Amino acid sequence: MTRIGRLAPSPTGAQHVGNARTYVVAWLHARSRGGSVRMRIEDIDSPRIKTGAAEQAAEDLRWLGLDWDGEPVTQTHRLPLYVAALDKLKQRELIYPCTCTRSDIAAAASAPHVGQEGPPYPGTCAHRTVADAERLAAEGKPFAWRFRVTVSPAFTDLYAGEQRIDLREHGGDFVVWKNSGTPAYQLAVVVDDAEMGVTEVVRGDDLIPSTPRQLLLYRALELTPPAFAHVPLVVGEDGRRLAKRHGDTRLAALRDAGVRPEALVGLLAWSCGWVNAPNAIAARDLLPQVRLAAIPPRPFVLTGALLRSIGYAPAT
Ligand code: GLU
Ligand code: ZN
Repeated sequence: MTRIGRLAPSPTGAQHVGNARTYVVAWLHARSRGGSVRMRIEDIDSPRIKTGAAEQAAEDLRWLGLDWDGEPVTQTHRLPLYVAALDKLKQRELIYPCTCTRSDIAAAASAPHVGQEGPPYPGTCAHRTVADAERLAAEGKPFAWRFRVTVSPAFTDLYAGEQRIDLREHGGDFVVWKNSGTPAYQLAVVVDDAEMGVTEVVRGDDLIPSTPRQLLLYRALELTPPAFAHVPLVVGEDGRRLAKRHGDTRLAALRDAGVRPEALVGLLAWSCGWVNAPNAIAARDLLPQVRLAAIPPRPFVLTGALLRSIGYAPAT
C-alpha cells in the first residue's frame, strides 16, 4: 500500500516550536516508511486567517527541512467538495439544522463544562429533520448543520493505543457546517484527507476527541479512514500549551534571530527520544531513527534554558 502522510497547517497565526514538533514527527513517520507527504493549508476558518500566513507556513516548514509532494491544497479553493459531502449527509438524514447560539447551548447545559470544548450540545434542535431547513431559510433564520451522534467509535491510535472517547461527554452532536455558510473543521478534514488519499494522520493529542467524530463522518460518507497517531504537545514551563505568554516561539522569530533549523530539529529529536543529546541534525538525517514508541507519553516542557541552548532568547 502507498503510504501518504500530510502536513496541515492552519494559517491562523504563525507556526511555533510546538507545531514544528508535530510536523517533524508527521514528516519523518511518512518518509521513513517510503511514504509521500501532502501539504494542505487549513484556511477554512476564515475570520481568523491572517494574510500571507499560508506562504509563511510553507516557508516555516521548508526552513525545518521538510518537503511535500505535489502542489499544496488550499481548503478555501475546494468548497464544492465539502458541499457534495454535506449533500450526502442530508440525503442520508444524518444531520439536522440547529439554530442555537453559543449562549443558548451554555444556558441549556446541565453538566458543568469540562475542557476547552465547552458543554456538550444539549440536543435542543435534534427533533428537526433535513426538510425543516427550507422553512428556516424562508424565515431568514441562520442555522448550522449538526451531525446526530448515536455511537462513539473506538479506535487504536498508532502511538497512544486504544482510545474510547464518549462523544456524549465530548461535545455531543457536532457541527459539520457553520451558520456562516462554511464547512466546519471536522467535515473539511475528513473530505480532504480522503480525497488526498491520506493513509496516516499524525497530529497533536489535543485532537484525540475529534477523531471519533471524524470516524463517524468517514462511515457516513462511505470513505476509508486513515490510521491516526496523536502525539503529546509542547508546553511552557508552567505546563500550559505553548502560547504567546511563553515568549515569542514562532519559527519566524527563531529564524530571524539566526537559529539554525538543525539546532531546533536536534532539540525536537531529543525531546522525542530518538537521539541521546540535543545536538544539531537535519530532519532527513533522522529518518533511520524515527520511532513513535520512543516519544515520551507526556507533554514536552520547552524551558527558556533549552531555547538558550539553541541560541535563542525569546523576547517576552
Ligand atoms: N490544522 C490543524 C492545526 O494546525 C490540524 C488539524 C489536523 O491535523 O487534523 O492544528
Ligand atoms: Zn440547536
